[in-house]
Amino acid sequence: MAELTERVRAGLVEVRRRIAAGGGDPEAVRVIAVTKGFGIEAVRAAAEAGCGDVGENYAEELLAKAGAAEGLRVHFLGGIQRKKVARLAADVDLWHSVDRLEEGRAIAAHRPGATILVQVSCDRPQDVAGRGGVELGRAAELVEALGAEPLVVAGLMAVGPPPPADPRPAFERVAALWRELGLAELSMGMSQDLEAAVAAGATMVRIGTALFGPRPAKTVAGAPRQVG
Ligand SMILES: *Cc1c(COP(=O)(O)O)cnc(C)c1O
Repeated sequence: MAELTERVRAGLVEVRRRIAAGGGDPEAVRVIAVTKGFGIEAVRAAAEAGCGDVGENYAEELLAKAGAAEGLRVHFLGGIQRKKVARLAADVDLWHSVDRLEEGRAIAAHRPGATILVQVSCDRPQDVAGRGGVELGRAAELVEALGAEPLVVAGLMAVGPPPPADPRPAFERVAALWRELGLAELSMGMSQDLEAAVAAGATMVRIGTALFGPRPAKTVAGAPRQVG
């Protein structure tokens, strides 16, 4: 078996152990293999290692790897540019980062009935913003508005605060809202903070470096951008 596949397989075992350590059910919490920054071989390795879900942040990268992702569930995690939605619509199974009504409408226009998550900002007003997401106090309103469109609003998504901040209070705030709204899915937790996310109630975690190792400095699209 290829070296990268072995690495992902071992990474998955460790991630599932960490999910259990966070008090989650490793069989129930979905692990999304975040292949951003890596080539098509990362998608193949994820599939061979038994991971049925892959995540991408950038439209061009997603399109470049879509062929290899056939048969896998494809998650779009990045900022949504409305002009790129048309090209992505056929390939994306779950949109994680909808934080404006217009974005949801663009998705619905190209893929009526699409399943989306509403990205919520973990930031309190005094924190530095910039990781995206609707502010917590306005999320219910947005969920309702998006629910009136031909879309399935399956849940919420959030990116935790960057270390060394304790992610737990932020995750707890998002999880409390998620429970209040009675939604099915909660996408929270990355390589550095998955235990805290699972402890708060995450139903899916988005894992890159803990499966594939450190990302190459530049993405395929040439954008050395990083979230979190
Ligand atoms: C990159 C990214 C991840 C994965 O991050 P790792 O720290 O590599 O696990 C998860 N979610 C989003 C939104 C990302 O941009």
